[in-house]
Amino acid sequence: MEERGSPDGDPARNLEQGPEGPEKPETPIQVVLRVRPMSAAELRRGEQSALHCSGTRTLQVSPPGGGPDVAFRFGAVLDGARTQEDVFRACGVRRLGELALRGFSCTVFTFGQTGSGKTYTLTGPPPQGEGVPVPPSLAGIMQRTFAWLLDRVQHLGAPVTLHASYLEIYNEQVRDLLSLGSLRPLPVRWNKTRGFYVEQLRVVEFGSLGTLMELLQMGLSRRRSSAHTLNQASSRSHALLTLYISHQTMPPVEPGGPPTGGKLCFVDLAGSEKVTATGSHGELMLEANSINRSLLALGHCISLLLDPQRKQSHIPFRDSKLTKLLADSLGGRGVTLMVACVSPSAQCLPETLSTLRYASRAQRVTTRPQAPKSPVAKPPRHLEPELLQLQEENRLLRSQLRQMDPKASGLSGARVAWAQRNLYGMLQEFMLENERLRKEKSQLQSSWDLACDEQRILAQQVQDLERRLFSACYLHQSGPGPAPPCPCVMAPLPLCHALPSLCSCPCCHLCPLCRAPLAHWACPRRELHLPQVFGPQAPGDVPLSARRPPWAPPRSPGSANYLRERSHSHWTQTQVLAEVLTKEEVVPSAPPMPMGPPNTSPVLRGGATVPNLARRLEALRDQIGSSLRRGRSQPPPSEGTRSPSRVLPPC
Ligand code: ADP
Ligand code: MG
Repeated sequence: MEERGSPDGDPARNLEQGPEGPEKPETPIQVVLRVRPMSAAELRRGEQSALHCSGTRTLQVSPPGGGPDVAFRFGAVLDGARTQEDVFRACGVRRLGELALRGFSCTVFTFGQTGSGKTYTLTGPPPQGEGVPVPPSLAGIMQRTFAWLLDRVQHLGAPVTLHASYLEIYNEQVRDLLSLGSLRPLPVRWNKTRGFYVEQLRVVEFGSLGTLMELLQMGLSRRRSSAHTLNQASSRSHALLTLYISHQTMPPVEPGGPPTGGKLCFVDLAGSEKVTATGSHGELMLEANSINRSLLALGHCISLLLDPQRKQSHIPFRDSKLTKLLADSLGGRGVTLMVACVSPSAQCLPETLSTLRYASRAQRVTTRPQAPKSPVAKPPRHLEPELLQLQEENRLLRSQLRQMDPKASGLSGARVAWAQRNLYGMLQEFMLENERLRKEKSQLQSSWDLACDEQRILAQQVQDLERRLFSACYLHQSGPGPAPPCPCVMAPLPLCHALPSLCSCPCCHLCPLCRAPLAHWACPRRELHLPQVFGPQAPGDVPLSARRPPWAPPRSPGSANYLRERSHSHWTQTQVLAEVLTKEEVVPSAPPMPMGPPNTSPVLRGGATVPNLARRLEALRDQIGSSLRRGRSQPPPSEGTRSPSRVLPPC
């Protein structure tokens, strides 16, 4: 069995959910089906029913020829046994009323072949006489909704103003059914704020159900209807009754315009008809052609609205007055309910199938419900600067957004997605890279600290060794016999006695010159010790740092490097002296640092310093080694040789 209709589940449920804001931007047109009972005339003619309701939402159509059944699915299917009250409760019009109270623009319209029960569904059976009201049990959706709405408004608690207008489109002319004078055609205009609207349409304020019913009766009685074969009271025009619901804080958008707020519009379409079937001729035929033309335009708009590319396609709402006035309900910001009406008779099956297909398509049309913006109340004076600032910020952000607009930048959707993914990927990479660099930096920092420590230790060792070297050379050169008088005896105690000892040996704790406890070797007064080392020929005005130590290799007096060779640092930073004099090996406390340009990074700079120091120590070691060897190989200046080992016993 073939099944057509709503593909996305329960439209009634969708309707109940309604537009809930940005997370539900599109709402399909809700469609319910009403199958009227067989009329007395149809029964008399012995016509068979071709329609069977299966459940509450599916209609089965059995073609008389015995073809396969066709099923149609709608939000609700209401058969001939259902009362007007059932229809009112099941069709979801109350939900639309609630939305209208919240400011949405809502439309209920009936659609179907002539004589299928559209007017009956909306307003009940035709008036039995001038001023004779419809019996309450037969009142249609409109009267029931009016009663419900006025009751609802009374219990709202907030003051609400209600207005109504009622017009008909007859032979492509809009006529005001509530006008005080004769029914004269009114122009349909369009502007940006209101969309399509009828100029000079009378909008009547009402405050009670009674008044509204009177307005309805007035319109119904003025609406054009005629008798033809299929309907004794056939509507010859499309009729639109609109209720405007406005809260009193919302003035009209335009002076003289309808009130701002929600709208609930009831549209009773004239039925499509085969003129051959209705037997229309003359004026009736003209009316029928006009009705059919506008219904055709409506069908065309619905077909185009179903087009997935509809954003690009033009919807010809301007083709008829009907489509102009329904534009907002069909493709705009409204919420729409369609009540499709059909006759059960097998004789009407072609028109019934046409209506069913039409209604099936319509329930796939979506709208973007949007409550009208309430007029902006003037902000308090103290908030104006902030408002201006926010507006400016908003403007800036919008312009930035426009620059990023894929259309503006000529990027397709796929490329934009790719670019966004890539940007996101790049951002992630940058974050990872940052994290990696942060770790690397902290490692480098700790390496730098280690290198600094090592440099400090080495410098200290060099100073110790230098001190030992001085004392060794002094003892080596002074020869046997009593030690020469130390200048320290005459001079005040030098400030060099805080030098830490190299080992636990007692001699290492004494100054080799004055035998006083050792002080810092680099003390500025250490020159007091050195004339003994360099001898009387040493120039007294040459500072210690510039003097050539005795272990230095012989130099050529004319050497251009003479002054440079006398640099103190060449003779004072000696690592291997420790090995020579104390038999201790200096083990680096950190692995060698990679060499690099001096200013590349802290670690490279620190790493370069330690090898430089080690290299200088290496050079000094060579020089001292050769000096000591030379000292040993030379004949002693007097009998007996005082080797350094005798003066400085191994520790
Ligand atoms: P339409 O407006 O579609 O042309 P009407 O509403 O005028 O059709 O109905 C045509 C006829 O059928 C009327 O006489 C009406 O009273 C009758 N009718 C329609 N629907 C029902 C119904 N549900 N129950 C009883 N009579 C109905
Ligand atoms: Mg009608």
